[in-house]
Amino acid sequence: MSSTSDNLAAHQNRVAGNGGAFDFPRSVSQRRAYRQCGMLYYLRYGPGWTGKKRKGTYAFGDTWQGVVQGVLQGRLISPQEMYEAFAADWVKFESDPAIEWGSKTGWRFFLERSRKLAEVSFAELRRVIGLPSDAVYDERFTYPLAPGVRETVIPDYVGPALGRCMDGSWLPNQKLTVVDWKTSDREYGVVGVELDEQLTTYQVGVQHMLQEPVAQVGLCVFVYQALPKVQWILRPARPREVVEQFVASAIVDDQRIRRGEFPRNPNACFFRGRCEMVPLCYESQRHLIEEELVKPETPRNPQSLDWLALDAIDG
Ligand code: SF4
Repeated sequence: MSSTSDNLAAHQNRVAGNGGAFDFPRSVSQRRAYRQCGMLYYLRYGPGWTGKKRKGTYAFGDTWQGVVQGVLQGRLISPQEMYEAFAADWVKFESDPAIEWGSKTGWRFFLERSRKLAEVSFAELRRVIGLPSDAVYDERFTYPLAPGVRETVIPDYVGPALGRCMDGSWLPNQKLTVVDWKTSDREYGVVGVELDEQLTTYQVGVQHMLQEPVAQVGLCVFVYQALPKVQWILRPARPREVVEQFVASAIVDDQRIRRGEFPRNPNACFFRGRCEMVPLCYESQRHLIEEELVKPETPRNPQSLDWLALDAIDG
Protein backbone atom coordinates (compact mmCIF):
# COMPACT_ATOMS: atom_id res chain seq x y z
CA MET A 1 0.00 0.00 0.00
CA SER A 2 1.41 3.42 -0.90
CA SER A 3 2.04 6.04 1.77
CA THR A 4 0.39 9.41 2.09
CA SER A 5 3.57 11.22 1.00
CA ASP A 6 3.92 8.96 -2.08
CA ASN A 7 0.34 9.66 -3.00
CA LEU A 8 0.72 13.38 -2.57
CA ALA A 9 3.91 13.42 -4.64
CA ALA A 10 2.17 11.50 -7.42
CA HIS A 11 -0.74 13.91 -7.32
CA GLN A 12 1.55 16.95 -7.50
CA ASN A 13 3.37 15.41 -10.47
CA ARG A 14 0.14 14.97 -12.29
CA VAL A 15 -1.06 18.49 -11.55
CA ALA A 16 2.31 19.79 -12.76
CA GLY A 17 1.73 17.95 -16.02
CA ASN A 18 4.50 15.41 -15.47
CA GLY A 19 2.61 12.63 -17.15
CA GLY A 20 0.80 9.95 -15.20
CA ALA A 21 -2.79 9.19 -14.81
CA PHE A 22 -5.61 10.33 -17.05
CA ASP A 23 -3.31 11.96 -19.57
CA PHE A 24 -5.04 10.42 -22.57
CA PRO A 25 -7.51 11.73 -25.16
CA ARG A 26 -11.07 12.22 -23.97
CA SER A 27 -14.26 11.16 -25.68
CA VAL A 28 -17.99 11.73 -25.34
CA SER A 29 -18.51 8.34 -23.71
CA GLN A 30 -15.85 9.18 -21.14
CA ARG A 31 -17.54 12.47 -20.31
CA ARG A 32 -20.96 10.80 -20.13
CA ALA A 33 -19.58 8.42 -17.52
CA TYR A 34 -17.87 11.29 -15.68
CA ARG A 35 -21.03 13.38 -15.51
CA GLN A 36 -22.99 10.39 -14.30
CA CYS A 37 -20.58 9.70 -11.44
CA GLY A 38 -16.94 10.65 -10.90
CA MET A 39 -16.22 7.30 -9.27
CA LEU A 40 -17.69 5.44 -12.24
CA TYR A 41 -15.30 7.31 -14.52
CA TYR A 42 -12.36 6.59 -12.25
CA LEU A 43 -13.07 2.86 -11.96
CA ARG A 44 -13.62 2.46 -15.69
CA TYR A 45 -10.74 4.53 -17.00
CA GLY A 46 -8.31 4.26 -14.09
CA PRO A 47 -7.93 0.61 -13.04
CA GLY A 48 -10.11 -0.34 -16.02
CA TRP A 49 -12.91 -2.33 -14.36
CA THR A 50 -15.58 -3.59 -16.76
CA GLY A 51 -18.63 -5.81 -16.51
CA LYS A 52 -18.17 -9.42 -17.64
CA LYS A 53 -21.60 -9.51 -19.30
CA ARG A 54 -22.57 -7.74 -22.51
CA LYS A 55 -26.11 -6.98 -23.59
CA GLY A 56 -27.49 -8.89 -26.58
CA THR A 57 -28.70 -5.60 -28.09
CA TYR A 58 -25.09 -4.35 -28.23
CA ALA A 59 -23.92 -7.54 -29.89
CA PHE A 60 -26.70 -7.13 -32.44
CA GLY A 61 -25.76 -3.48 -33.08
CA ASP A 62 -22.10 -4.32 -33.69
CA THR A 63 -22.92 -7.25 -35.97
CA TRP A 64 -25.47 -5.25 -37.93
CA GLN A 65 -23.00 -2.41 -38.40
CA GLY A 66 -20.62 -4.88 -40.04
CA VAL A 67 -23.15 -5.82 -42.73
CA VAL A 68 -24.19 -2.20 -43.28
CA GLN A 69 -20.56 -1.48 -44.08
CA GLY A 70 -20.48 -4.51 -46.38
CA VAL A 71 -23.41 -3.11 -48.37
CA LEU A 72 -21.87 0.34 -48.75
CA GLN A 73 -18.52 -1.11 -49.76
CA GLY A 74 -20.19 -3.24 -52.42
CA ARG A 75 -19.24 -6.58 -50.84
CA LEU A 76 -22.92 -7.48 -50.23
CA ILE A 77 -24.98 -6.85 -53.31
CA SER A 78 -28.52 -7.87 -52.35
CA PRO A 79 -30.78 -7.97 -49.27
CA GLN A 80 -30.37 -11.75 -49.27
CA GLU A 81 -26.58 -11.46 -49.13
CA MET A 82 -26.90 -8.86 -46.37
CA TYR A 83 -29.04 -11.23 -44.32
CA GLU A 84 -26.79 -14.23 -44.97
CA ALA A 85 -23.68 -12.28 -43.96
CA PHE A 86 -25.41 -11.21 -40.77
CA ALA A 87 -26.56 -14.75 -39.99
CA ALA A 88 -23.07 -16.16 -40.59
CA ASP A 89 -21.54 -13.69 -38.13
CA TRP A 90 -24.40 -13.93 -35.63
CA VAL A 91 -23.81 -17.65 -35.06
CA LYS A 92 -20.87 -16.91 -32.78
CA PHE A 93 -23.19 -15.45 -30.13
CA GLU A 94 -25.67 -18.31 -30.04
CA SER A 95 -24.17 -19.95 -26.98
CA ASP A 96 -21.87 -17.19 -25.77
CA PRO A 97 -22.18 -17.17 -21.96
CA ALA A 98 -21.02 -13.54 -21.77
CA ILE A 99 -24.11 -12.26 -23.56
CA GLU A 100 -27.14 -11.17 -21.54
CA TRP A 101 -30.37 -11.63 -23.55
CA GLY A 102 -33.71 -9.95 -22.84
CA SER A 103 -36.67 -12.16 -21.88
CA LYS A 104 -38.28 -11.64 -25.31
CA THR A 105 -35.23 -10.59 -27.27
CA GLY A 106 -33.02 -13.64 -27.41
CA TRP A 107 -30.50 -14.76 -30.03
CA ARG A 108 -33.18 -16.21 -32.34
CA PHE A 109 -35.34 -13.10 -32.09
CA PHE A 110 -32.61 -10.98 -33.70
CA LEU A 111 -31.88 -13.62 -36.31
CA GLU A 112 -35.51 -13.69 -37.39
CA ARG A 113 -35.97 -9.91 -37.34
CA SER A 114 -32.82 -9.36 -39.39
CA ARG A 115 -34.27 -10.97 -42.54
CA LYS A 116 -36.96 -8.32 -43.11
CA LEU A 117 -34.72 -5.61 -41.74
CA ALA A 118 -32.16 -6.45 -44.41
CA GLU A 119 -34.76 -5.86 -47.14
CA VAL A 120 -35.60 -2.30 -46.08
CA SER A 121 -32.06 -1.47 -45.01
CA PHE A 122 -30.46 -2.51 -48.26
CA ALA A 123 -32.87 -0.36 -50.28
CA GLU A 124 -32.45 2.66 -47.99
CA LEU A 125 -28.65 2.50 -47.93
CA ARG A 126 -28.54 2.34 -51.72
CA ARG A 127 -31.06 5.21 -52.06
CA VAL A 128 -29.48 7.68 -49.63
CA ILE A 129 -25.79 6.79 -49.84
CA GLY A 130 -25.32 4.48 -52.79
CA LEU A 131 -21.88 2.96 -53.37
CA PRO A 132 -19.47 5.66 -52.22
CA SER A 133 -15.92 5.37 -53.50
CA ASP A 134 -14.31 7.73 -50.99
CA ALA A 135 -16.03 7.06 -47.67
CA VAL A 136 -14.29 6.41 -44.35
CA TYR A 137 -15.59 3.76 -41.94
CA ASP A 138 -14.76 3.38 -38.25
CA GLU A 139 -11.63 5.45 -38.53
CA ARG A 140 -10.16 6.86 -35.33
CA PHE A 141 -9.60 10.62 -35.45
CA THR A 142 -7.63 12.11 -32.56
CA TYR A 143 -7.55 15.87 -32.63
CA PRO A 144 -6.82 18.83 -30.34
CA LEU A 145 -10.09 20.08 -28.91
CA ALA A 146 -8.25 22.93 -27.17
CA PRO A 147 -4.57 23.51 -26.28
CA GLY A 148 -3.55 20.50 -24.18
CA VAL A 149 -6.93 18.76 -24.52
CA ARG A 150 -7.03 15.89 -26.98
CA GLU A 151 -10.24 14.31 -28.15
CA THR A 152 -10.70 10.99 -29.90
CA VAL A 153 -13.67 9.99 -32.08
CA ILE A 154 -14.51 6.97 -34.23
CA PRO A 155 -17.40 7.96 -36.50
CA ASP A 156 -19.20 5.04 -38.13
CA TYR A 157 -19.42 6.66 -41.55
CA VAL A 158 -17.91 9.76 -43.14
CA GLY A 159 -18.81 10.26 -46.78
CA PRO A 160 -21.45 11.39 -49.23
CA ALA A 161 -25.17 11.12 -48.57
CA LEU A 162 -28.26 12.84 -49.91
CA GLY A 163 -29.06 16.14 -48.21
CA ARG A 164 -31.92 15.97 -45.75
CA CYS A 165 -34.11 19.05 -45.17
CA MET A 166 -35.63 19.93 -41.81
CA ASP A 167 -39.11 19.20 -43.20
CA GLY A 168 -38.06 15.62 -44.01
CA SER A 169 -37.67 16.06 -47.77
CA TRP A 170 -34.47 15.13 -49.63
CA LEU A 171 -32.22 17.32 -51.75
CA PRO A 172 -31.04 15.75 -55.00
CA ASN A 173 -27.29 16.23 -54.44
CA GLN A 174 -25.03 14.43 -52.03
CA LYS A 175 -23.13 16.26 -49.28
CA LEU A 176 -20.28 15.35 -46.94
CA THR A 177 -22.10 13.63 -44.08
CA VAL A 178 -21.17 12.00 -40.80
CA VAL A 179 -23.51 9.18 -39.79
CA ASP A 180 -23.80 7.16 -36.61
CA TRP A 181 -25.58 3.81 -37.15
CA LYS A 182 -28.05 2.80 -34.46
CA THR A 183 -30.20 -0.27 -33.95
CA SER A 184 -33.32 0.08 -31.85
CA ASP A 185 -36.64 -1.56 -31.07
CA ARG A 186 -38.35 1.82 -31.63
CA GLU A 187 -37.90 5.07 -33.49
CA TYR A 188 -35.68 7.76 -32.00
CA GLY A 189 -36.97 11.17 -30.94
CA VAL A 190 -35.65 13.55 -33.56
CA VAL A 191 -35.14 16.67 -31.43
CA GLY A 192 -32.44 15.16 -29.21
CA VAL A 193 -30.19 14.71 -32.22
CA GLU A 194 -29.87 18.48 -32.64
CA LEU A 195 -27.58 18.95 -29.64
CA ASP A 196 -26.18 15.43 -29.34
CA GLU A 197 -22.55 15.83 -28.28
CA GLN A 198 -21.37 12.67 -30.01
CA LEU A 199 -22.35 14.11 -33.36
CA THR A 200 -20.87 17.50 -32.50
CA THR A 201 -17.47 16.03 -31.69
CA TYR A 202 -17.62 13.88 -34.84
CA GLN A 203 -18.18 17.03 -36.88
CA VAL A 204 -15.33 18.93 -35.23
CA GLY A 205 -12.94 15.99 -35.45
CA VAL A 206 -13.70 15.17 -39.08
CA GLN A 207 -13.39 18.80 -40.14
CA HIS A 208 -10.08 19.07 -38.35
CA MET A 209 -8.66 15.89 -39.84
CA LEU A 210 -10.00 16.22 -43.40
CA GLN A 211 -9.76 20.01 -43.57
CA GLU A 212 -13.13 20.02 -45.25
CA PRO A 213 -16.45 21.36 -43.94
CA VAL A 214 -19.01 18.75 -42.95
CA ALA A 215 -22.45 19.59 -44.37
CA GLN A 216 -24.66 17.41 -42.18
CA VAL A 217 -24.47 15.03 -39.24
CA GLY A 218 -26.96 12.56 -37.91
CA LEU A 219 -28.24 9.11 -37.21
CA CYS A 220 -29.45 6.24 -39.30
CA VAL A 221 -31.62 4.11 -37.02
CA PHE A 222 -32.40 0.53 -38.03
CA VAL A 223 -35.66 -0.19 -36.22
CA TYR A 224 -36.08 -3.94 -35.77
CA GLN A 225 -39.84 -4.04 -35.15
CA ALA A 226 -42.08 -6.67 -36.76
CA LEU A 227 -42.52 -4.10 -39.53
CA PRO A 228 -38.95 -2.85 -39.72
CA LYS A 229 -37.98 0.60 -40.89
CA VAL A 230 -34.94 2.80 -41.39
CA GLN A 231 -35.08 6.24 -39.83
CA TRP A 232 -32.73 8.94 -41.12
CA ILE A 233 -32.26 11.87 -38.77
CA LEU A 234 -29.78 14.11 -40.54
CA ARG A 235 -29.25 17.72 -39.48
CA PRO A 236 -27.21 20.55 -40.96
CA ALA A 237 -23.73 20.90 -39.46
CA ARG A 238 -23.72 22.39 -35.99
CA PRO A 239 -23.57 26.19 -35.89
CA ARG A 240 -20.56 27.85 -34.30
CA GLU A 241 -22.20 28.62 -30.93
CA VAL A 242 -23.15 24.96 -30.40
CA VAL A 243 -19.57 23.88 -31.13
CA GLU A 244 -18.18 26.54 -28.77
CA GLN A 245 -20.46 25.48 -25.93
CA PHE A 246 -19.53 21.86 -26.48
CA VAL A 247 -15.79 22.64 -26.38
CA ALA A 248 -16.14 24.82 -23.27
CA SER A 249 -17.95 22.11 -21.30
CA ALA A 250 -15.49 19.45 -22.47
CA ILE A 251 -12.58 21.57 -21.20
CA VAL A 252 -14.20 21.95 -17.78
CA ASP A 253 -14.59 18.16 -17.46
CA ASP A 254 -11.04 17.59 -18.65
CA GLN A 255 -9.67 19.96 -16.01
CA ARG A 256 -11.63 18.27 -13.25
CA ILE A 257 -10.42 14.84 -14.36
CA ARG A 258 -6.81 16.02 -14.42
CA ARG A 259 -7.20 17.45 -10.94
CA GLY A 260 -8.30 14.03 -9.76
CA GLU A 261 -11.83 15.05 -8.84
CA PHE A 262 -13.84 11.84 -8.83
CA PRO A 263 -16.77 12.40 -6.47
CA ARG A 264 -19.21 9.58 -5.94
CA ASN A 265 -22.79 10.26 -6.98
CA PRO A 266 -24.96 7.87 -4.96
CA ASN A 267 -28.03 9.20 -6.82
CA ALA A 268 -26.75 7.45 -9.94
CA CYS A 269 -26.21 3.99 -8.43
CA PHE A 270 -29.70 2.70 -9.16
CA PHE A 271 -30.98 5.33 -11.56
CA ARG A 272 -32.23 3.67 -14.77
CA GLY A 273 -30.96 0.25 -13.73
CA ARG A 274 -28.12 -0.74 -11.45
CA CYS A 275 -24.65 0.73 -12.01
CA GLU A 276 -22.23 -2.03 -12.95
CA MET A 277 -19.79 -0.86 -10.22
CA VAL A 278 -22.19 -1.51 -7.32
CA PRO A 279 -20.17 -4.57 -6.20
CA LEU A 280 -17.12 -2.32 -5.80
CA CYS A 281 -18.83 0.62 -4.10
CA TYR A 282 -21.22 -1.16 -1.76
CA GLU A 283 -19.59 -3.21 0.96
CA SER A 284 -22.57 -5.55 1.25
CA GLN A 285 -22.23 -6.43 -2.48
CA ARG A 286 -18.48 -7.18 -2.56
CA HIS A 287 -19.13 -10.92 -2.91
CA LEU A 288 -20.36 -10.18 -6.47
CA ILE A 289 -17.11 -8.62 -7.69
CA GLU A 290 -15.61 -11.79 -9.10
CA GLU A 291 -18.85 -12.94 -10.67
CA GLU A 292 -19.69 -9.65 -12.38
CA LEU A 293 -16.55 -7.61 -12.94
CA VAL A 294 -13.12 -7.94 -14.42
CA LYS A 295 -10.02 -5.77 -14.15
CA PRO A 296 -7.09 -5.91 -16.57
CA GLU A 297 -3.66 -7.05 -15.29
CA THR A 298 -2.14 -3.73 -16.22
CA PRO A 299 -4.31 -0.74 -15.38
CA ARG A 300 -4.73 1.92 -18.01
CA ASN A 301 -3.44 4.42 -15.46
CA PRO A 302 -0.92 3.94 -12.68
CA GLN A 303 -3.11 5.59 -10.10
CA SER A 304 -3.95 3.57 -7.02
CA LEU A 305 -7.34 3.37 -5.41
CA ASP A 306 -5.65 4.19 -2.11
CA TRP A 307 -4.79 7.61 -3.45
CA LEU A 308 -8.34 8.10 -4.52
CA ALA A 309 -9.64 7.16 -1.11
CA LEU A 310 -7.23 9.64 0.45
CA ASP A 311 -7.66 12.60 -1.84
CA ALA A 312 -11.09 12.53 -3.37
CA ILE A 313 -13.22 10.97 -0.70
CA ASP A 314 -11.73 11.65 2.71
CA GLY A 315 -9.85 14.79 1.85
S1 SF4 B 1 -22.08 2.34 -7.81
FE1 SF4 B 1 -22.73 4.45 -7.52
S2 SF4 B 1 -20.99 5.49 -6.57
FE2 SF4 B 1 -20.24 3.56 -7.46
S3 SF4 B 1 -19.52 4.09 -9.47
FE3 SF4 B 1 -21.63 3.44 -9.69
S4 SF4 B 1 -22.86 5.30 -9.58
FE4 SF4 B 1 -20.83 5.79 -8.79
